Amino acid sequence: MSGKVERMVKSRTRQQPRSTVGGRDTSTSWQPIFTGAIVAVAVSFIVLVVVAADSFGGSGGGDGGAGVSPTETAGADTSTPDPAATGSPGNTDPTRTPTNEPGPDGSIVVACNDILAPLDKQHRLPADCVPPDLEEVPGAISAQGAQYLRTEALAALREMFDAARTDGFVLQVNSSFRSYQTQADTYNYWVQTYGKEQADRTSARPGHSEHQLGTTADVGARGQFLEDFIGTAEADWLAENAWKYGFIISYPDGKEGITGYAYEPWHVRYVGQAVAADVQASGLTLREFLLK
Ligand SMILES: [Zn+2]
Repeated sequence: MSGKVERMVKSRTRQQPRSTVGGRDTSTSWQPIFTGAIVAVAVSFIVLVVVAADSFGGSGGGDGGAGVSPTETAGADTSTPDPAATGSPGNTDPTRTPTNEPGPDGSIVVACNDILAPLDKQHRLPADCVPPDLEEVPGAISAQGAQYLRTEALAALREMFDAARTDGFVLQVNSSFRSYQTQADTYNYWVQTYGKEQADRTSARPGHSEHQLGTTADVGARGQFLEDFIGTAEADWLAENAWKYGFIISYPDGKEGITGYAYEPWHVRYVGQAVAADVQASGLTLREFLLK
Protein backbone atom coordinates (compact mmCIF):
# COMPACT_ATOMS: atom_id res chain seq x y z
CA MET A 1 0.00 0.00 0.00
CA SER A 2 1.46 3.34 -0.99
CA GLY A 3 1.91 6.11 1.48
CA LYS A 4 -0.64 8.18 -0.33
CA VAL A 5 -3.37 5.54 -0.08
CA GLU A 6 -2.57 4.92 3.59
CA ARG A 7 -2.95 8.58 4.36
CA MET A 8 -6.26 8.65 2.53
CA VAL A 9 -7.57 5.62 4.43
CA LYS A 10 -6.56 7.10 7.75
CA SER A 11 -8.02 10.44 6.80
CA ARG A 12 -11.29 8.84 5.81
CA THR A 13 -11.39 6.76 8.95
CA ARG A 14 -10.97 9.79 11.13
CA GLN A 15 -13.41 11.96 9.25
CA GLN A 16 -16.23 9.48 8.81
CA PRO A 17 -15.94 6.89 11.52
CA ARG A 18 -19.58 5.88 11.42
CA SER A 19 -20.59 6.72 7.87
CA THR A 20 -20.43 3.18 6.60
CA VAL A 21 -22.46 1.68 9.40
CA GLY A 22 -25.68 3.11 8.14
CA GLY A 23 -24.89 2.40 4.53
CA ARG A 24 -24.99 6.04 3.58
CA ASP A 25 -21.42 6.15 2.29
CA THR A 26 -21.53 6.49 -1.46
CA SER A 27 -17.77 6.33 -2.00
CA THR A 28 -17.93 2.63 -2.77
CA SER A 29 -14.59 2.69 -4.59
CA TRP A 30 -12.77 2.94 -1.24
CA GLN A 31 -14.74 0.19 0.47
CA PRO A 32 -12.34 -2.74 -0.13
CA ILE A 33 -9.32 -0.77 1.09
CA PHE A 34 -11.15 0.40 4.16
CA THR A 35 -12.40 -3.08 4.99
CA GLY A 36 -8.92 -4.47 4.37
CA ALA A 37 -7.46 -1.99 6.85
CA ILE A 38 -9.95 -3.01 9.53
CA VAL A 39 -9.17 -6.69 8.95
CA ALA A 40 -5.42 -6.00 9.08
CA VAL A 41 -5.74 -4.19 12.38
CA ALA A 42 -7.93 -6.97 13.79
CA VAL A 43 -5.48 -9.68 12.68
CA SER A 44 -2.54 -7.76 14.17
CA PHE A 45 -4.40 -7.44 17.44
CA ILE A 46 -5.18 -11.17 17.56
CA VAL A 47 -1.54 -12.03 16.81
CA LEU A 48 -0.38 -9.70 19.58
CA VAL A 49 -2.78 -11.26 22.07
CA VAL A 50 -1.71 -14.79 21.15
CA VAL A 51 2.00 -13.94 21.39
CA ALA A 52 1.53 -12.22 24.73
CA ALA A 53 -0.51 -15.07 26.19
CA ASP A 54 2.09 -17.59 25.09
CA SER A 55 4.85 -15.53 26.62
CA PHE A 56 3.18 -15.22 30.03
CA GLY A 57 1.98 -18.81 30.02
CA GLY A 58 5.49 -20.03 29.20
CA SER A 59 7.20 -18.50 32.20
CA GLY A 60 4.49 -19.56 34.60
CA GLY A 61 4.07 -23.17 33.61
CA GLY A 62 7.35 -24.26 32.11
CA ASP A 63 9.77 -23.90 35.02
CA GLY A 64 8.18 -25.95 37.72
CA GLY A 65 6.14 -23.05 39.02
CA ALA A 66 3.10 -25.25 39.55
CA GLY A 67 2.83 -26.43 43.12
CA VAL A 68 5.11 -23.77 44.55
CA SER A 69 3.32 -22.06 47.40
CA PRO A 70 3.27 -18.28 47.76
CA THR A 71 5.48 -18.50 50.82
CA GLU A 72 8.10 -20.47 48.96
CA THR A 73 8.27 -17.89 46.20
CA ALA A 74 8.05 -14.85 48.45
CA GLY A 75 11.35 -13.08 48.67
CA ALA A 76 12.97 -15.38 46.16
CA ASP A 77 15.86 -13.86 44.34
CA THR A 78 16.87 -14.66 40.80
CA SER A 79 20.23 -16.22 41.60
CA THR A 80 20.87 -19.76 40.49
CA PRO A 81 21.01 -22.22 43.38
CA ASP A 82 24.42 -23.81 43.77
CA PRO A 83 24.15 -27.08 45.72
CA ALA A 84 27.93 -27.32 46.08
CA ALA A 85 27.97 -24.15 48.14
CA THR A 86 26.21 -25.81 51.05
CA GLY A 87 26.90 -29.48 50.56
CA SER A 88 23.21 -30.20 50.29
CA PRO A 89 22.64 -31.42 46.75
CA GLY A 90 19.19 -31.18 45.35
CA ASN A 91 17.89 -28.47 47.60
CA THR A 92 16.47 -25.66 45.56
CA ASP A 93 15.10 -23.53 48.39
CA PRO A 94 14.90 -20.12 46.74
CA THR A 95 15.22 -18.25 50.03
CA ARG A 96 18.84 -19.16 50.64
CA THR A 97 21.86 -17.32 49.39
CA PRO A 98 24.22 -19.68 47.60
CA THR A 99 27.47 -17.79 48.07
CA ASN A 100 29.50 -16.62 51.02
CA GLU A 101 28.51 -13.04 50.37
CA PRO A 102 26.40 -10.72 52.49
CA GLY A 103 22.76 -11.65 52.11
CA PRO A 104 19.90 -9.24 51.45
CA ASP A 105 20.02 -8.19 55.11
CA GLY A 106 23.78 -7.55 54.92
CA SER A 107 24.71 -10.66 56.90
CA ILE A 108 27.53 -13.00 55.93
CA VAL A 109 26.66 -16.61 55.14
CA VAL A 110 28.95 -19.09 56.90
CA ALA A 111 29.72 -22.66 55.90
CA CYS A 112 27.21 -25.34 56.79
CA ASN A 113 28.49 -28.06 59.17
CA ASP A 114 31.44 -26.04 60.49
CA ILE A 115 31.09 -26.46 64.25
CA LEU A 116 33.31 -23.40 64.77
CA ALA A 117 31.36 -21.12 62.44
CA PRO A 118 30.68 -17.74 64.03
CA LEU A 119 26.96 -17.14 64.35
CA ASP A 120 25.65 -13.83 65.53
CA LYS A 121 23.55 -10.99 64.17
CA GLN A 122 26.01 -10.52 61.30
CA HIS A 123 26.70 -14.17 60.43
CA ARG A 124 24.20 -16.78 59.44
CA LEU A 125 23.85 -20.27 58.00
CA PRO A 126 22.30 -21.09 54.64
CA ALA A 127 18.57 -21.66 54.99
CA ASP A 128 18.87 -25.28 53.87
CA CYS A 129 21.72 -26.16 56.21
CA VAL A 130 20.81 -29.29 58.17
CA PRO A 131 23.52 -31.26 60.02
CA PRO A 132 24.09 -34.72 58.51
CA ASP A 133 24.32 -36.78 61.70
CA LEU A 134 21.52 -35.66 63.98
CA GLU A 135 20.63 -38.17 66.68
CA GLU A 136 17.68 -38.16 69.00
CA VAL A 137 18.50 -37.23 72.58
CA PRO A 138 17.34 -40.06 74.90
CA GLY A 139 14.00 -39.33 76.52
CA ALA A 140 15.51 -39.74 80.01
CA ILE A 141 17.53 -36.54 79.55
CA SER A 142 15.21 -34.54 77.33
CA ALA A 143 11.98 -32.66 77.76
CA GLN A 144 9.43 -30.82 75.70
CA GLY A 145 9.30 -33.16 72.74
CA ALA A 146 11.90 -35.00 70.68
CA GLN A 147 15.33 -33.38 70.75
CA TYR A 148 18.17 -33.85 68.29
CA LEU A 149 21.91 -33.20 68.42
CA ARG A 150 24.84 -34.13 66.23
CA THR A 151 26.53 -37.39 67.22
CA GLU A 152 29.68 -35.88 68.72
CA ALA A 153 27.81 -33.16 70.60
CA LEU A 154 25.33 -35.66 72.01
CA ALA A 155 28.10 -37.95 73.26
CA ALA A 156 29.77 -35.01 75.00
CA LEU A 157 26.46 -33.86 76.45
CA ARG A 158 25.77 -37.29 77.92
CA GLU A 159 29.20 -37.29 79.55
CA MET A 160 28.49 -33.86 81.01
CA PHE A 161 25.07 -34.86 82.28
CA ASP A 162 26.56 -38.01 83.86
CA ALA A 163 29.13 -35.87 85.66
CA ALA A 164 26.38 -33.52 86.85
CA ARG A 165 24.40 -36.45 88.16
CA THR A 166 27.44 -37.65 90.07
CA ASP A 167 27.51 -34.23 91.71
CA GLY A 168 23.81 -34.50 92.50
CA PHE A 169 22.31 -32.47 89.65
CA VAL A 170 19.85 -33.85 87.12
CA LEU A 171 19.99 -31.88 83.89
CA GLN A 172 17.68 -32.01 80.90
CA VAL A 173 17.65 -30.71 77.32
CA ASN A 174 14.56 -28.70 76.52
CA SER A 175 15.60 -27.42 73.12
CA SER A 176 18.35 -28.49 70.73
CA PHE A 177 18.54 -28.63 66.94
CA ARG A 178 16.18 -26.16 65.32
CA SER A 179 15.81 -25.94 61.56
CA TYR A 180 15.78 -22.63 59.73
CA GLN A 181 12.00 -22.83 59.47
CA THR A 182 11.53 -23.72 63.13
CA GLN A 183 13.75 -20.79 64.06
CA ALA A 184 11.66 -18.52 61.84
CA ASP A 185 8.54 -19.67 63.71
CA THR A 186 10.32 -19.29 67.06
CA TYR A 187 11.53 -15.78 66.28
CA ASN A 188 8.14 -14.70 64.95
CA TYR A 189 6.49 -16.05 68.08
CA TRP A 190 8.69 -13.86 70.27
CA VAL A 191 8.18 -10.85 68.04
CA GLN A 192 4.43 -11.25 68.34
CA THR A 193 4.64 -11.82 72.07
CA TYR A 194 7.12 -9.13 73.11
CA GLY A 195 7.73 -6.98 70.04
CA LYS A 196 10.72 -6.86 67.72
CA GLU A 197 13.11 -5.01 70.02
CA GLN A 198 12.79 -7.46 72.90
CA ALA A 199 12.68 -10.47 70.58
CA ASP A 200 16.04 -9.47 69.12
CA ARG A 201 17.61 -9.52 72.60
CA THR A 202 16.68 -13.12 73.25
CA SER A 203 15.88 -14.83 69.98
CA ALA A 204 17.99 -15.21 66.86
CA ARG A 205 16.55 -14.47 63.47
CA PRO A 206 16.29 -17.50 61.16
CA GLY A 207 19.72 -18.60 59.93
CA HIS A 208 21.47 -16.77 62.78
CA SER A 209 20.77 -19.31 65.51
CA GLU A 210 23.44 -21.58 66.95
CA HIS A 211 20.65 -24.13 67.35
CA GLN A 212 20.66 -24.70 63.59
CA LEU A 213 24.19 -26.14 63.95
CA GLY A 214 22.86 -29.18 65.82
CA THR A 215 25.56 -28.70 68.46
CA THR A 216 23.68 -26.38 70.80
CA ALA A 217 21.33 -27.21 73.64
CA ASP A 218 19.16 -25.30 76.06
CA VAL A 219 19.63 -27.00 79.42
CA GLY A 220 17.13 -27.04 82.26
CA ALA A 221 16.59 -28.89 85.49
CA ARG A 222 13.61 -29.95 87.55
CA GLY A 223 11.26 -28.50 84.96
CA GLN A 224 12.94 -25.12 85.15
CA PHE A 225 13.80 -23.87 81.71
CA LEU A 226 14.97 -20.62 80.16
CA GLU A 227 14.62 -17.68 82.54
CA ASP A 228 13.51 -20.01 85.35
CA PHE A 229 16.90 -21.70 85.14
CA ILE A 230 18.73 -18.48 86.11
CA GLY A 231 20.13 -18.60 89.62
CA THR A 232 19.61 -22.33 90.15
CA ALA A 233 22.33 -24.56 91.58
CA GLU A 234 22.29 -26.45 88.28
CA ALA A 235 23.03 -23.23 86.38
CA ASP A 236 26.03 -22.63 88.64
CA TRP A 237 27.25 -26.16 88.04
CA LEU A 238 26.89 -25.74 84.26
CA ALA A 239 28.75 -22.42 84.26
CA GLU A 240 31.62 -23.98 86.17
CA ASN A 241 31.91 -27.27 84.35
CA ALA A 242 30.50 -27.10 80.81
CA TRP A 243 33.84 -26.22 79.20
CA LYS A 244 35.42 -29.43 80.54
CA TYR A 245 33.07 -31.37 78.26
CA GLY A 246 33.51 -29.12 75.25
CA PHE A 247 30.58 -26.76 75.81
CA ILE A 248 30.59 -22.98 76.14
CA ILE A 249 27.83 -20.74 77.48
CA SER A 250 27.52 -18.48 74.47
CA TYR A 251 25.75 -15.58 76.15
CA PRO A 252 27.25 -14.88 79.58
CA ASP A 253 25.95 -12.34 82.06
CA GLY A 254 26.89 -8.72 81.39
CA LYS A 255 28.09 -9.34 77.82
CA GLU A 256 25.04 -8.38 75.81
CA GLY A 257 26.97 -5.47 74.28
CA ILE A 258 29.40 -8.01 72.79
CA THR A 259 27.25 -11.03 72.07
CA GLY A 260 24.10 -9.17 71.09
CA TYR A 261 22.00 -11.34 73.41
CA ALA A 262 20.81 -11.14 76.99
CA TYR A 263 22.20 -13.52 79.63
CA GLU A 264 21.34 -17.13 78.80
CA PRO A 265 22.97 -19.50 81.33
CA TRP A 266 21.00 -22.40 79.82
CA HIS A 267 22.31 -22.07 76.25
CA VAL A 268 25.44 -24.17 75.68
CA ARG A 269 27.23 -24.75 72.38
CA TYR A 270 29.62 -27.62 71.72
CA VAL A 271 33.00 -26.63 70.22
CA GLY A 272 35.10 -29.62 71.31
CA GLN A 273 37.13 -29.98 74.51
CA ALA A 274 40.35 -28.39 73.21
CA VAL A 275 38.65 -25.27 71.85
CA ALA A 276 36.39 -24.98 74.87
CA ALA A 277 39.44 -25.04 77.15
CA ASP A 278 41.04 -22.28 75.07
CA VAL A 279 37.88 -20.17 75.17
CA GLN A 280 37.66 -20.64 78.93
CA ALA A 281 41.31 -19.65 79.41
CA SER A 282 40.96 -16.60 77.13
CA GLY A 283 38.19 -15.04 79.18
CA LEU A 284 36.56 -14.00 75.91
CA THR A 285 33.02 -14.64 74.88
CA LEU A 286 32.66 -17.39 72.27
CA ARG A 287 31.76 -14.79 69.67
CA GLU A 288 34.95 -12.82 70.29
CA PHE A 289 37.01 -16.01 70.31
CA LEU A 290 35.63 -17.31 67.00
CA LEU A 291 35.99 -13.96 65.27
CA LYS A 292 39.47 -13.06 66.45
ZN1 LIG B 1 19.37 -21.61 73.09
